[in-house]
Amino acid sequence: MRYSALGILGRTLLGNTGWPRLWREPEPKPAYDVVIVGGGGHGLATAYYLAKEHGVSNVAVVEKGWLGSGNVGRNTTIVRSNYLLPGNIPFYEWSMKLWEGLEQDFNYNAMVSQRGVLNLCHSDPQRDAFARRGNAMRLHGVDAELLDREQVRAMLPFLEFNNARFPITGGLLQRRGGTVRHDAVAWGYARGADQRGVDIIQNCEMTGIRIEHGRAVGIETTRGTIRANKIGLAVAGHSSRAAAMAGLRLPIETHVLQAFVTEGLKPLLDHVVTFGAGHFYVSQSDKGGLVFGGDIDGYNSYAQRGNLPAIEDVMESGMALWPAIGRLRVLRHWGGVMDMSMDGSPIIDRTPVQGLYLNAGWCYGGFKATPASGWCFAHLIARDEPHPVAAAYRLDRFATGALIDEKGAGAQANLH
Ligand SMILES: Cc1cc2nc3c(=O)[nH]c(=O)nc-3n(C[C@H](O)[C@H](O)[C@H](O)COP(=O)(O)OP(=O)(O)OC[C@H]3O[C@@H](n4cnc5c(N)ncnc54)[C@H](O)[C@@H]3O)c2cc1C
Repeated sequence: MRYSALGILGRTLLGNTGWPRLWREPEPKPAYDVVIVGGGGHGLATAYYLAKEHGVSNVAVVEKGWLGSGNVGRNTTIVRSNYLLPGNIPFYEWSMKLWEGLEQDFNYNAMVSQRGVLNLCHSDPQRDAFARRGNAMRLHGVDAELLDREQVRAMLPFLEFNNARFPITGGLLQRRGGTVRHDAVAWGYARGADQRGVDIIQNCEMTGIRIEHGRAVGIETTRGTIRANKIGLAVAGHSSRAAAMAGLRLPIETHVLQAFVTEGLKPLLDHVVTFGAGHFYVSQSDKGGLVFGGDIDGYNSYAQRGNLPAIEDVMESGMALWPAIGRLRVLRHWGGVMDMSMDGSPIIDRTPVQGLYLNAGWCYGGFKATPASGWCFAHLIARDEPHPVAAAYRLDRFATGALIDEKGAGAQANLH
């Protein structure tokens, strides 16, 4: 069934009855051409593009929980392509272009909102660094605008401009950045993949990887053995554990990242805004709550809940930037487990085990990468060669030293 305005009107007149399920609940088959492990955004997008772009539809996505139970339904929904390094800019810009056409492409409302992402700067050196990043973006055809203090003040008069330690001196604005409703992305890709014949199997945890003569030939799951010609791992915060099932040790650590939502307010914040003197970012959801977050917790964990020091750090940064938010009540907060790679950039590559492919290392920013990650991982699996915009995301760069370190400080500058 295709969604359309007329269709919605018709169903409304029928009392909203008769809507079909978005995807089937199939039993796992004994074998597939491709099995994708992980029904988050990246796994589902990979399955969708495998079927749609490469005609590979004998595919299963196995998910240990329910769709959207991982980071795809836990993130703060920010999308942008304001990167500095040549290994990153084309990939994230391709993702932005896919976001721009996504809702038409998979015929599902993902509430793509290009409301602009503004990174604030608080010193002259930081402003110079932003000018450099903005120039790098523009050289790659990505939109970027450097704003001075008064331009920022005109947009966001309620921020603290005269903070003695962190006065706002300007900002780097990407107008095409913004937010996308995160769980709708999972549902839209799931529906599109299912319509093309992909089996989406929830409540099915991979517990082992079957290797014969050096080649991955299938997976063990809580619902039995599933054989496959090719296996793609897209399990985000569980990447190291999944790869260990094939005897691989990844350059990835798992940390908790927390997010917060306040009580609803009338519309007052039109953009996504990031504080440049600490790790804090904020936007306003369509329901009115301020959605914000900051740094990862300072210890490794697979528990999807965080601890108080990170909460205190986020609240302090928020108060330094926008003191009035101290009067708001936080309604909800939660955590997700993040696959932090050692240079802060992702991996989309084959592994040393034949037939086993890896999509991991998304750190703080894998949601915005979802479309391009799925697109490039599908390309790699279908053709056995990297997609040109993801060619730098090799696993062996941690051995060769060809790192892609945007900050020059690794993934976890706060922990050094
Ligand atoms: C609080 C928070 C805020 C964030 N904010 C942003 C943001 O604003 N912008 C941005 O770009 N990124 C953000 N991120 C990062 C982004 O959400 C992740 O990088 C991205 O969602 C990871 O890819 P995914 O969607 O495929 O992951 P997930 O949704 O986590 O998918 C992985 C899936 O694998 C499943 N799985 C794991 N092990 C197994 C197994 N053995 N067998 C079967 N299934 C398994 C898990 O259950 C999970 O559903 C944020 C993350 C968090 C936690």
